Parts: sequence; structure tokens; C-alpha cells
Amino acid sequence: MAALRVVRSVTALRRALEDERLSGQRIGFVPTMGALHAGHASLVQHATQVSDVVVSSIFVNPLQFGPKEDLAHYPRTPEADMALLEAAGCRVLFLPEVSEVYPQGFCTTVQLPGLSEVLCGRSRPGHFSGVLTVVLKLLNMVQPDVACFGRKDFQQALLIARMVRDFNLPVQVEVCPTLREADGLAMSSRNRYLSAEERVAAPALRAAVLAMDAAFRAGERAAAPLLALGRARIATVPRFALDYLELRDPQDLSERDGAVKQGDLVAVAAQLGSARLIDNGLLGTEEAP
Ligand code: AMP
Repeated sequence: MAALRVVRSVTALRRALEDERLSGQRIGFVPTMGALHAGHASLVQHATQVSDVVVSSIFVNPLQFGPKEDLAHYPRTPEADMALLEAAGCRVLFLPEVSEVYPQGFCTTVQLPGLSEVLCGRSRPGHFSGVLTVVLKLLNMVQPDVACFGRKDFQQALLIARMVRDFNLPVQVEVCPTLREADGLAMSSRNRYLSAEERVAAPALRAAVLAMDAAFRAGERAAAPLLALGRARIATVPRFALDYLELRDPQDLSERDGAVKQGDLVAVAAQLGSARLIDNGLLGTEEAP
């Protein structure tokens, strides 16, 4: 296992990758906010399959947190993260300070109207502008050939793919499957906010998506009863404060309010205690179970 190199500046990052780039090696990139789990490791492992040298970043991006969100409390576990990255095959970790990413006077941001204003964007105004801005910057800093993102954050991955296309960024975007705990809960850095009781209740989010998928597979094609079924499943956990449960087109995120079809997106977000949890599935496809 090759040792992990930690770099904190863009200059050091570029230097660390100079030889690989000159010798024509393919550079893979997995951006993260740290507090890493097996889902992150799976992205790194995927990156090792599609590139020669894998770079990851850990940066808790202030631009994507709202004023009342968990920026100050976001979990930080750098030592464990480095061990996980090294074991997964990552060779270079970019670990910048906020001032390295956003030096004094920084003010250019990426806006993607429409797609970024629905689902999570509606309850988190400015969130996706912050995500796209930092991802664009990180892509420019690392200059990877391929970058890997998780389907768990479906809307985020879709927006990034659109930005890459709209700006002709020379990078291939790969979207990887969601890793889950044994009871179906999507792995997330925020799961550690859950109390023992909340942790037991949390898989209801996934169960709602699965109940809708099962009804779809059994022949239900109308959006309203599918949504009612999912909402009823989530309501069995009174502590869940549902943010949204929606059926949308997986390409343009337009709402499905009449009939649904195979591959349509089920997207859900809910607050459970101090954790905001999200999940999704694609109806009637192998992605859903
Ligand atoms: P984050 O550190 O939460 O910003 O996530 C960094 C990357 O890991 C994003 O591309 C996420 O979509 C992805 N990711 C987060 N959770 C999972 C998971 N359970 N399975 C696969 N990928 C994930």
C-alpha cells in the first residue's frame, strides 16, 4: 500500500502530481468534507479502478452551509480519515485551510438556476451555489481526468454533471452507488448526530422509498398514491420532520404529478433530531432496492 501524501496548498498539490501528469497518468479525484465512512471509501476504490493515481480532498466548505446549519459542529476526524483514505488506495490528500480556498477578496460564484432551486435547494437556499463553486475550484486545483461522486446526493451529482457540461470542463464525472448500513440507512457523516433511539428509527426514510418502489413494481403508476404511501411510512416515526418527499424526472428534475414511469426519481429529505437525512431511489430499477 503506497503511503498517503498530505498537501495543504495548491502549489504543493500541483507539485505532488507533476510527475504523474507529465508521464501521462490518469488522475482520479474524490472530493469530500471528511468524517469519512465506507461510502467515501467506495468512491476512492472506484477511482482507483478508473485512474492511475487518486487524489482526495477534505474541505468543510463554509459556502454551502446556511447561517443556521451545522458548519461549526460538522464532525472532523482527520486522523481516522487519513487511515481510511490510505487503505482505500488514495495517494494524495488535499487538506486546505479556508483561506487557501477562499483568499481575501474572493467573490466569484457559480449559479445554476432551476435545477438548484428544487428539492434540497428549496430548503437550503444558496447551498448548491456553494457546492458548485467549491467543486469548480477543486476541479481546477486538482485538474483530474475523472472525478467520482455519490448517488446518495443525487441532485448534487446531477448539478455537477450539468456544470461540467455547461462549462466544458475537461473531466469525466462518475456517479457511484450509495453505500448503506445493514438496516438500509444510507451512510452519512451526519448519522453520527443521531441518538441511539433516532438511529433505530432512521431507516424509515429508506423504507419509504422501498415501499413506493414495491408499489410501483406491483403496478401502481399514479404519483399521488405512491407519495401517500411513502409519507405514511415516514409518519410512523413521529420524530421525523419531513422536508420533502417527491417524484421527479431524474434528468431535469421536473415534477411528476400525474403518472410515473420506470427510472423516475424518488427523493426524500427529513430532519431527525439534529441530523438532516436524505435518500433517493429510481423506481423499478436495480438502483432502488
Ligand atoms: P460529503 O463528505 O458528505 O460531502 O460526501 C463526499 C462524497 O461522498 C459525495 O460525492 C457524496 O455523494 C459521497 N457519499 C456520501 N455518502 C455516501 C454513501 N453512503 N455512499 C456513497 N457515496 C457517498
